[in-house]
Amino acid sequence: MTIHLSNTLTRTVEPLAPLDPSNVRMYVCGPTVYARPHIGNARSVVVYDVLYRLLAHDFPRVTYVRNITDVDDKINAAAVERGITIRALTEEVMGQFHDDMGALSCLKPTVEPRATEHIAQMIAMIEALIEKGFAYAADGHVLFRVQKDPNYGQLSRRSVKDMVAGARVEVAPYKEYAGDFVLWKPASEKDDASSKFDSPWGVGRPGWHIECSAMSATHLGNDFDIHGGGADLMFPHHENEIAQSTCAHTGSHYAKLWVHNGFLTVNGEKMSKSLGNFITVHDLLSKGVKGEAIRFALMSTRYNEPLDWSEKLLEDSEKVLNRLYRQAAPADGNEVSADILDALRDNLNTPKALAILQTLDGAALKASANFLGLLNQTAEAWFQGDATSDVLWIEVQIEARNEAKKARDFAQSDAIRDLLKAKGIVLEDSAEGTTWRRA
Ligand code: AMP
Ligand code: ZN
Repeated sequence: MTIHLSNTLTRTVEPLAPLDPSNVRMYVCGPTVYARPHIGNARSVVVYDVLYRLLAHDFPRVTYVRNITDVDDKINAAAVERGITIRALTEEVMGQFHDDMGALSCLKPTVEPRATEHIAQMIAMIEALIEKGFAYAADGHVLFRVQKDPNYGQLSRRSVKDMVAGARVEVAPYKEYAGDFVLWKPASEKDDASSKFDSPWGVGRPGWHIECSAMSATHLGNDFDIHGGGADLMFPHHENEIAQSTCAHTGSHYAKLWVHNGFLTVNGEKMSKSLGNFITVHDLLSKGVKGEAIRFALMSTRYNEPLDWSEKLLEDSEKVLNRLYRQAAPADGNEVSADILDALRDNLNTPKALAILQTLDGAALKASANFLGLLNQTAEAWFQGDATSDVLWIEVQIEARNEAKKARDFAQSDAIRDLLKAKGIVLEDSAEGTTWRRA
């Protein structure tokens, strides 16, 4: 069976026919690194991790590019609020993102390009767009002329007029037309040096959309197989990526297959930073929730449907994993279940794959679970909680103990030390701080 995926561009489930079967190329919009990822962000990462694993199984080589957006208004605002440089903030959040996604057993992409390291490519693309008449410079900005692109709106299936009438566009005096979007914008006086770049249009920074067009072209070429991201990115972000790339690279169709993951919701509402209804992966891990349980929960619904998050979902996921850990045996040379592979090839039917997984046992179970990014530990480690989540929990306890000591609440700090001791964790204080070891 060939891999079939739901293509947003055609609104049909299509077989994947790679442009170059010896190297399947996929681009996924990665995080804007201004705050620690929540489980909605994690859903997107897990979805494409499953797809990546499947592609890597079926094809000899996969080039999976997932970018880091490290220049953006939200980043600037967060850095100012915290009183640190943009670079310090993006480095910190990028590290947290890697730790948290690693705890969910997500594999590293083949390339993880950073926007700030591709400014020259973005400028070159913007220059090409200006030269071809698809963009214009005005008042330190460069804008994309949407009315010049006859295919604009092909992904979201909206007409330019509807978009403008929908008023999701910013009206500004420097725009020829309200629907035109920003490719480059001027820096403000107060921005710090790590978010300001020289350009033919003055000191400024790129618009968000051009980042992905430039990074995908750099690492995958002008045409590639799959482009992924959350459903919220379809318009305007992905629509604008297509416009920029197809107009700058004449004759290119950009990505062939567009995959969009559904939202993770809480009580039916999209989880988001702005709504404040979010739980970070780190929050859960710090409470002792196991990374694999979060991953299992995120895979329990098919990627293109909404997934409503609940405590119960997480508890049920952990219970299933407890049972699977008891039934699994070391996998040596075992093949991944053909039925699981076919369930995934059928538009990533992860709930079906997980249901099949629960009918297996022994070494066959272990091999298939590992393929899905599950049962990565020994049963002993899982049941003793000797996992990354446990390490995080210990570190959180140590932090709390230090806080208590600082506040001279010695009853509390001793209570934390005793709690850890009861779990076999010994603390050692020195001038450099506190370290721990298992007794
Ligand atoms: P952001 O850092 O907000 O740009 O989001 C990074 C990725 O997470 C994007 O692909 C978003 O579409 C995705 N995302 C954000 N919130 C959710 C959510 N509640 N459910 C699923 N995906 C989400
Ligand atoms: Zn993007």
